[in-house]
Amino acid sequence: MFSYRHAFHAGNHADVLKHLTLLATLRHLMRKPTPLLLVDTHAGAGIYRLDSDAAQTSGEAGEGIARLQATPAPSHHRSKTVPAPASSAQGAMQNEALADYLEVVARFNPAARGAWRVYPGSPLLMHALMTEPDRAVVHDRLKLFELHPTDAQALRAHIDQLDAGRQVTMTRQDGLAGLKALLPPPPAAGGSRRALVLIDPSYEIKSDYAKVAEAVQDALKRFATGVYLVWYPIIPRPEAHGLPRRLRTLAQQAGRAWLDATLHIGAAADGAGLTASGMFVINPPHTLKALLDDALPQVLDTLREGRGRGAAWSVEAGAARA
Ligand code: SAM
Repeated sequence: MFSYRHAFHAGNHADVLKHLTLLATLRHLMRKPTPLLLVDTHAGAGIYRLDSDAAQTSGEAGEGIARLQATPAPSHHRSKTVPAPASSAQGAMQNEALADYLEVVARFNPAARGAWRVYPGSPLLMHALMTEPDRAVVHDRLKLFELHPTDAQALRAHIDQLDAGRQVTMTRQDGLAGLKALLPPPPAAGGSRRALVLIDPSYEIKSDYAKVAEAVQDALKRFATGVYLVWYPIIPRPEAHGLPRRLRTLAQQAGRAWLDATLHIGAAADGAGLTASGMFVINPPHTLKALLDDALPQVLDTLREGRGRGAAWSVEAGAARA
């Protein structure tokens, strides 16, 4: 049915952009001690071995997360920086969002001296934050969707191991259809409704782009104050170019703030493979632009090494309509 398997791509440059943005957004939302509904419409397998045949065959993590683990942060990026996590070179300084992302990934590799062997996907990253001691008392909920039979089975096994009960649920169902039924989220005890939704399809079918835009439009009607994060590939295809433009229009029509971050790592020597992607966020935290403006140059300095033309990053944002 589907040929895409995230195991080949886990920890690549697209995951770095996606998960850095996701964690920075979630951290900000979690400053408020009221429960969040977290939805991952395209969850994947949940967690990945970086020494698996799939990861070794593609080598994508080797050019992504593995480089960030191994490379000290450049010293000229000093604003909004914190000491790098113990897993990085001593004394290096890193952007706080980048340092946090690397620290959370490092938790999945507790015994690792040398290269990390495990990379957590979006479900496990979100679960890691919602179960941190200060946050666990708040009782966020995580709803996961995955259609691929093998990845759905793997995800279920990983979720079972968390022993999270009804706090984390997984359904083998179309994630965009599943999302409809979850919005608006039910009110928490104090009456507040809060949700973060990650939409991260593999875009195997041309119609996926339009389906994502329709799902976001519908979600904004159901729950305009939700935080929506949409990953998209930057490839020479009209539908792919059109998606961030369409999302921007939808956010503006709904009067909501938006942010669009892109990362191009530069062409590969053989011209093959995905080299650029974007994260579009509707209702982003007000802190996100500054964090990504600071983090993405550091990420790019590391990931562009050995690549050809086209390396660039950008963060554009628009304010909510008063
Ligand atoms: N979000 C994951 C992460 O960041 O770790 C990666 C997800 S991967 C890019 C996309 C996943 O969507 C694949 O595992 C694929 O099998 C799944 N998928 C494809 N179509 C789907 C659909 N209609 N509903 C739910 N999952 C789908």
